[in-house]
Amino acid sequence: LTSADKKVLDEIEENDVDFLRLQFTDILGTVKNVAVPARQAEKAFTEGIYFDGSSIEGFVRIQESDMRLVPDPDTFAILPWRADEESAAARMICDVYDTSTDEPFEGDPRHVLKQAIDRAKEMGYEVNFAPEPEFFMFEEDETGRATTETADHGGYFDLAPKDLASDVRRDIIYGLEDMGFEIEASHHEVARGQYEINFEYEDALATADNVATFRTVVRAIAAQHDLHATFMPKPIPKINGSGMHTHMSLLEESGENAFHDEDDEFNLSDTARSYLAGVLEHAPAITAVANPTVNSYKRLVPGYEAPVYVAWSDRNRSALVRKPAARVPAASRIELRSPDPSCNPYLAFAVMIHAGLDGIERDLECPDPIRENIYEFDEQKRKEYGIDTLPSNLGEAVDALEKDEIIYEALGDHVAPKFVEAKSQEFEEYLVDVSEWEIDRYLETF
Ligand code: GLN
Ligand code: MG
Ligand code: MG
Ligand code: MG
Repeated sequence: LTSADKKVLDEIEENDVDFLRLQFTDILGTVKNVAVPARQAEKAFTEGIYFDGSSIEGFVRIQESDMRLVPDPDTFAILPWRADEESAAARMICDVYDTSTDEPFEGDPRHVLKQAIDRAKEMGYEVNFAPEPEFFMFEEDETGRATTETADHGGYFDLAPKDLASDVRRDIIYGLEDMGFEIEASHHEVARGQYEINFEYEDALATADNVATFRTVVRAIAAQHDLHATFMPKPIPKINGSGMHTHMSLLEESGENAFHDEDDEFNLSDTARSYLAGVLEHAPAITAVANPTVNSYKRLVPGYEAPVYVAWSDRNRSALVRKPAARVPAASRIELRSPDPSCNPYLAFAVMIHAGLDGIERDLECPDPIRENIYEFDEQKRKEYGIDTLPSNLGEAVDALEKDEIIYEALGDHVAPKFVEAKSQEFEEYLVDVSEWEIDRYLETF
């Protein structure tokens, strides 16, 4: 047992933890749980816990279904929404191993991200990420089903009493803090019933774990207040959708921010510029992973602060990448504004890292920033500036992913084909469906 393992055993003892939830995510980003009695913790660390992977989305074929979970002691946390009961439950996030080879399982999204982080490390960098997840809270009907009625009618940065859900948000923040989150800020977003909670940047792996945990905590605590929290990107047409802007920077081995240059007009180093250029070049393929639902593309339309065009800017928010002002060198970073909170954070971060590193490796040239509102450009002007458009639906995005070798390979031999298959199928199902909109528009007209 490592000292971190032992610390977990002590905490289990001290807090009367009787159940451990061992967590991992499937390819679609859904958190899966295997609950074991807490006395099995030691065994989990030394031998792992065996489970049948055949029923997990995109994991394995039936005939090779034995998987092994090994918990990461750094992710131990007591679940706050059970804390006032006699005994507590805790969770740990696990790495998945293939029992036939005893190697990390290639289909484990956490492993895919670790591969990307390793590549950065080989190039001499540590990767820092900070996400800004947005979400809606909706009322439930008498039977407990989610509606799209919002719990309040506030707007951007509105304060109580308009922001009726602020009590719930406070409880969510306490819950997150109990689980070890450092909350930076929380505010009401532009749309009614929409919120954003920002947490402190960490290395990319810890941040991906945090996003997975965040979604679970937010939903669980909202449910205690009879509200349904959703990370669906665009639940209500014609108002802002929910994004998950993601801030990225690289650290040198010396601990210095590799993205900062005191003398550059935007405080961006050459490394940052090539990374940014890589992200722009691979943007269409990244979209398939960072915006993986049919609904994601209802958000990526002009007029709602979500990106549509492949460009960067140091000021306006219609661009895909923004360079926020940095008061101190450590804060020099770039913000990718396309991801939405329906993505699998492990896979999304992995492809973003590979895209940026590819830019650095190939020493890609960064285009000039666009300082005007790109929503207002016509096609002619976009052509002049050489600005591409993001995929306009999930089908186009999956095509772009299949064509982009770097990003496809970033997902690994197991995940890439499974992801493409699942998403193509999802898109086809959507195409043959008949929507409410069509009924409204055509049923009585024809
Ligand atoms: N909700 C917007 C989006 O879809 C972002 C709004 C904001 O944070 N300024 O990305
Ligand atoms: Mg924000
Ligand atoms: Mg926001
Ligand atoms: Mg932002």
